[in-house]
Amino acid sequence: MIRTLVAGGVGFIGTHLCKRLLGEGRYAICLDNLYTGSIANIKSLLSHDSFEFLQSDVIKPVTIKADEIYNPACFASPRHYIEDPVFTIKTSFLGALNLLEYSQKNNCKILQASTSEIYGDPDIHPQSENYWGNVNPIGIRSCYDEGKRAAESLFFDFNRKYGVRIKVVRIFNTYGPFMQPDDGRVISNFILQALKGQDITIYGSGDQTRCFCYIDDLVEGMIRLMRSKDDFTGPVNIGNPHELTILELAKIIIQLTGSKSKLVFENLPQDDPKRRKPDISLANRELSWSPAVGLEEGLLKTIDHFKRGTND
Ligand code: UDP
Repeated sequence: MIRTLVAGGVGFIGTHLCKRLLGEGRYAICLDNLYTGSIANIKSLLSHDSFEFLQSDVIKPVTIKADEIYNPACFASPRHYIEDPVFTIKTSFLGALNLLEYSQKNNCKILQASTSEIYGDPDIHPQSENYWGNVNPIGIRSCYDEGKRAAESLFFDFNRKYGVRIKVVRIFNTYGPFMQPDDGRVISNFILQALKGQDITIYGSGDQTRCFCYIDDLVEGMIRLMRSKDDFTGPVNIGNPHELTILELAKIIIQLTGSKSKLVFENLPQDDPKRRKPDISLANRELSWSPAVGLEEGLLKTIDHFKRGTND
């Protein structure tokens, strides 16, 4: 049976990946340092015969056997990575190096969860994979952006130099159940604020745009990429191209929750990208992938999850 290692397996994306793999009858090994992910996310998996949990850090030697690796291990929320920038860039770079060396030694296939932050504050719209980006190399987000860029660069060097079978996905904003409630991302913040009747905090004027992909669509894209032919390495964008402003998002969430919350406007964080939208034609062509879940449907599932406050 194929043994799949999910590094950062207790995080938002990792949790969904582990569940999907087990649901397909596969063997999943979940590695996590539990710094931001909650063990409650995987409690329903712990008794599963085809599931192993290893509490370890992605930069430490991997001691188990794996045939393929997914690597979403890294702080992904601006709140966390700005709080601990050195740890963030270390995790990104040394984590990628460690897993690539393991893959080289063990003939393992490896998929890197890269990010739309590779494009920085983009001056090309929408962003396609051949755009090199507009990243501030010394700003408060650069620990994440440059860490992920360096990791991509390592992946392609290990592929060219040592023939390691790599896959690189650039993930755009993703949401869904099991998002961490306290990590400051826009969708979890707005839903929790709306459900508690608190003010909805719009940073800046709210006219910055994002596109939001439901987690099941992202996981489907990652799995298709992992199982694609070996000569297709990516990088490939996975995201939902439906673009909206943050103000529009707030109004939709207020409407879907029936909340009486008011909007308040706060300072826009430094280097906050103004517009972001994936060009997904490559994923469409190479992986026959496109998102299936609309924003309202996905938000309703996410709202339901936060309302129940469960991790089952
Ligand atoms: N944002 C906001 N209010 C919040 C949290 C975030 O207006 O309570 C904005 C944030 O400034 C950004 C967008 O929503 O423009 C998306 O933020 P998030 O942190 O979710 O993701 P990222 O900045 O990485 O795209």
